[in-house]
Amino acid sequence: NSNVTSIKLVLLGEAAVGKSSIVLRFVSNDFAENKEPTIGAAFLTQRVNMADHTIKFEIWDTAGQERFASLAPMYYRNAQAALVVYDVTKPQSFIKARHWVKELHEQASKGIVIALVGNKMDLLESEEDRKVAKEEAEKLSQEENLLFFETSAKTGDNVNEVFLAIGEKIPLK
Ligand code: GDP
Ligand code: MG
Repeated sequence: NSNVTSIKLVLLGEAAVGKSSIVLRFVSNDFAENKEPTIGAAFLTQRVNMADHTIKFEIWDTAGQERFASLAPMYYRNAQAALVVYDVTKPQSFIKARHWVKELHEQASKGIVIALVGNKMDLLESEEDRKVAKEEAEKLSQEENLLFFETSAKTGDNVNEVFLAIGEKIPLK
């Protein structure tokens, strides 16, 4: 079907920030409290109907563990979009996200659309629980031309919005 546009998308980020959970929420509208870690990478697809065309997301969900880091270029090299995920309660995961953004800008396709995603927003019962300031993530997003969302894979908050924004930002072929 000529009205279906495929978008290759890769998820990157430190282990346990919720990459696989974001994908599970987006693809199956589901959540698992004890999700088993991804080994290597997982491949899933999901179709989304836009106003005048359909997008088929071809999703590579990578493992965050350091021992798999050398495999990441295989997955982002041909990607048109990337989700760089961190955990809003884990400052180290935001530092890691910065590194992924830098690596993508140096090594990935020139026009790659990158979304920075602060996940696990449901864990913020008070402002003290937050360990990555929204302003800091917004600043990085402006400097590096990223889409930016704060999500919860657990509640589903803002998860579809990330993918819709990517679909809107990628030019139709
Ligand atoms: P990945 O290693 O980045 O793929 O992370 P997973 O998706 O495997 O999630 C790691 C752990 O965090 C699992 O126990 C998930 O249930 C949990 N988790 C993922 N997303 C969220 C979220 O938005 N909120 C909460 N509270 N837990 C989450
Ligand atoms: Mg995973």
